[in-house]
Amino acid sequence: MLYNSYSAHFAARFGSRVQKLSVNAGFTCPNRDGTVGVGGCSFCSNAAFNPSYCDPAKSIAQQIAEGVEFHRRRYRKAVKYLAYFQAYSNTYADLATLERRYRDALDCPDVIGIVIGTRPDCVDEAKLDLLAAIAAEGRYVAVEYGIESCYDRTLKLVNRGHDFACTRRAVEATAQRGLHCGGHLILGLPGESRADLVAEADIVNSLPLNSIKLHQLQLLAGTRLAAQVMNGELEAEPFELDDYIALVCDFVERLRPDMIVERFAGEVPPRHQADPDRAWRHADGRWVRNEEIPPMVEAELRRRGTRQGFFISKF
Ligand code: SF4
Repeated sequence: MLYNSYSAHFAARFGSRVQKLSVNAGFTCPNRDGTVGVGGCSFCSNAAFNPSYCDPAKSIAQQIAEGVEFHRRRYRKAVKYLAYFQAYSNTYADLATLERRYRDALDCPDVIGIVIGTRPDCVDEAKLDLLAAIAAEGRYVAVEYGIESCYDRTLKLVNRGHDFACTRRAVEATAQRGLHCGGHLILGLPGESRADLVAEADIVNSLPLNSIKLHQLQLLAGTRLAAQVMNGELEAEPFELDDYIALVCDFVERLRPDMIVERFAGEVPPRHQADPDRAWRHADGRWVRNEEIPPMVEAELRRRGTRQGFFISKF
């Protein structure tokens, strides 16, 4: 492959396909409850990416059992699982509560580890030490930070409630403990030029991250950002699919070769899109599915004769 894929990383590390199972542990978010801010990040709609089996009214064990069943029917191949604490900020509780929820997941059959999605301003030494202690027991532990943008002006514009220096501190503190550290970037937030987006690869390279997830900006129903774009207050032109694939390739060509690329794009169900006309469709009207994107990136890199990190020596 011409990029360092997440599935290949897990296949090499664990010798089999590994499937992430989302769980909703009932945490909230300091950017919603008034601790950091109110209203949350302007692009955020947790409902848009919460699978139907993820209901905090159910125990974590039950959510995982339902998730295993769901994926077993769909893919039939996954034999090991990672519990993905995805909704809201999954380090936003006292230590005892965090440990209980994490261990509830780790106690489930075939769950080999946990992936903790959170905000960079929502970790501290004690929480990272807890995660490092779990990892020291031989479990896979990853922390996945919402970076969203490397530019403070954008973070302010979307009401993120922290700056990029905060991201750098959190990533460094996580990496120092030997934990797998991932980051999530949104490509296409208002005010960011194509050059800004490609330059983020250089900035990301300077962080001790192990993996990166890229998402195109999707305007989600009910969010403030969707309203701002649709009423003309902010500008965020949708990407044409070809243009987005080209942008991702430009980004990947500058990305450290050792950085694992977990995904290139996001896909939320049509009912959660503020403007379904912005979504990518095939000529026959079918939605472009997420799993169609990596082969397109691979094909474009092949056409260019490049690969991940191809231009890195020039920067
Ligand atoms: S994106 Fe994350 S940090 Fe921002 S409001 Fe949503 S849950 Fe909170």
